[in-house]
Amino acid sequence: MNKKNIFENILKKKIPANILYQDKKVTAFTDISPKAPVHILVIPNFFIKNLNEINKKNLNILSHMMYVSIKLAKINNIHESGYRIIINCNKNSGQEIQYLHIHILGGKKLKKI
Ligand code: 5GP
Repeated sequence: MNKKNIFENILKKKIPANILYQDKKVTAFTDISPKAPVHILVIPNFFIKNLNEINKKNLNILSHMMYVSIKLAKINNIHESGYRIIINCNKNSGQEIQYLHIHILGGKKLKKI
């Protein structure tokens, strides 16, 4: 399966996922291979390949993804202990799934970058 289709199929409910939040614009679910006790992915409900595809027209999706990520950090009670938000873009970052997503990581002390 094309790796972009994994997230599209989660949205279409063809692949099961632990969906934690959904609204008209974004969906959040638990990462299948968590790198921290809290590891949540936030994706737009429409396809954007990666940060390089952000333009003036779709820019507001990023602020909404961030807003929902902060909200989820609070719901998961990692906002005081601390958390990290990551967006990988292309090969050198290790982006594996070609579908824009935010990682929210927390619940333990993360390695300093
Ligand atoms: P990337 O490396 O592209 O920034 O992150 C992709 C993330 O998607 C990885 O952390 C990986 O564990 C997660 N992932 C890959 N396949 C699935 C899946 O089928 N379901 C869920 N929930 N997460 C997935």
